[in-house]
Amino acid sequence: MNERLSSLLTALRQAVGVAQVLTHEDPDTDLSAWEQDWRRRARGRALAVVRPGSTAEVAEVVRACAAAGTSIVPQGGNTGLVVGSVPDDSGTQVVLSLTRLNAVRSLDADNLTLTVEAGCVLQNLQEHAREAGFLLPLSLAAEGSCTIGGNLATNAGGTQVLRYGNARDLCLGLEVVTAQGEVWQGLSGLRKDNTGYDLRDLFIGSEGTLGVITAATLKLYPLPAAQLTAWAAVPSLDAAVALLGLAHKQLGAGLTGFEVMSQFALSLVDKHFPDLRTPLWRDSPYCVLLENSDSESEMHAREQFERLLETALNQGTLSDAVVAENLSQAQGLWHIRESIPMAQAEEGLNIKHDISIPVSAIPAFCAETEALLQRQVPGVRLVNFGHLGDGNLHFNVQAPEGQDAKKFLAEQETRVNTLVFDAVARYDGSISAEHGVGSLKAGHLPHYKDPVALGLMRAIKQALDPHQRMNPGRILTP
Ligand code: FAD
Repeated sequence: MNERLSSLLTALRQAVGVAQVLTHEDPDTDLSAWEQDWRRRARGRALAVVRPGSTAEVAEVVRACAAAGTSIVPQGGNTGLVVGSVPDDSGTQVVLSLTRLNAVRSLDADNLTLTVEAGCVLQNLQEHAREAGFLLPLSLAAEGSCTIGGNLATNAGGTQVLRYGNARDLCLGLEVVTAQGEVWQGLSGLRKDNTGYDLRDLFIGSEGTLGVITAATLKLYPLPAAQLTAWAAVPSLDAAVALLGLAHKQLGAGLTGFEVMSQFALSLVDKHFPDLRTPLWRDSPYCVLLENSDSESEMHAREQFERLLETALNQGTLSDAVVAENLSQAQGLWHIRESIPMAQAEEGLNIKHDISIPVSAIPAFCAETEALLQRQVPGVRLVNFGHLGDGNLHFNVQAPEGQDAKKFLAEQETRVNTLVFDAVARYDGSISAEHGVGSLKAGHLPHYKDPVALGLMRAIKQALDPHQRMNPGRILTP
């Protein structure tokens, strides 16, 4: 190791304590949890994993890395799906793990806000809010291990966006350590503040490329009196879209979730997790999961739901439906939906697309793109599911039955991505709805993003991080 990196390690140990700087120098330390991404698409090698315990320590680490000319990869729960939180293989990058910044700083019941540190695990925050009688509506399948800092850095979506918006919509203020190691104190709980450029919105969704989020002030909502879940079989995607329109009309703001799942996606859950007892999937091309939250009572919510399902049955937009009788049944239905990514992983590597399309165009997009795929790569299996209420599909492509998944990815990934992303562009959609860009999609961005927008993004990066030290190669290619 050269002298510059070795004195950086000394500076880092001084900043956060010897025990919080993990390196390969110690043969007993296994860094794979920080160096390997969740989907096992990339494995890097870090100079060190550094775990500061306070904002001041984060700032000191950033300054030490800047002085040594070393780049930083911020990391939360490392559940990201676009290869954004793991180091490259140079052995010179510092992984800055935020997981020790896990304090809840305050809850303001009258202002309906919760101020927390970036490394708090999302599920712990949901529970903290619930115990105080509030709802923190951000919810996604990785909530048991992803952190709020990672959620904000990727502007995470999840299952409640339809009603409450994505992570950006739930955040009022941020505390950020800049690329220069200064602390921007922007932990405002204000819902109105028009005093110039919105720095908060700049850092949200920036995937660690502009600075390190160390704390955030989040919006809270009153807990609904009742949350009911229904599972319906629908005869087509057109019918699913019609059912969504009807649900908007009849449930209004009560409609808090609307997920769609293709028969093949559910068949994988049934194959790999038969104990989950997936309902109604065998005779329908799609099933949907609906959630109705009510501020009045469970009885009111159930009546509304039953009216909706009856109208839909009469109109032919659904063929059969079940309403969960209690919380545990509701959780069971959500668990099936959330098990699709795991079932897919069990089936083998696949080509993931997290896309958004205007809801009205989704049936035509799916029909056209699936037909094109089958013509160009016969036999591919489409694992199509997602947050239909937000126009967000996980349009994933699995190798043909019996084919080696690794070989399939090596041979077909570029062709499949181009085909799907070109179709997304024709339908005025986005090639990344909620997972972000990372390094997995950075190369695609110049083809699909407006060139003026891309130029402005490069100018922002240059202004905030002129030496390209914050998570280089993510979002923007060099
Ligand atoms: P990481 O994976 O550690 O990091 C993600 C990115 O954020 C990286 O670029 C990293 O550098 C940056 N980053 C992390 N922390 C900070 C920080 N404090 N400051 C600056 N930059 C930082 N995502 C959705 O949007 N919706 C879903 O429904 C969804 N479902 C998922 C289901 C599963 C099973 C899995 C594994 C993932 C899912 N994801 C989903 C993706 C992932 O959980 C989210 O992107 C999550 O927000 C990442 O949080 P994290 O703490 O794990 O971040």
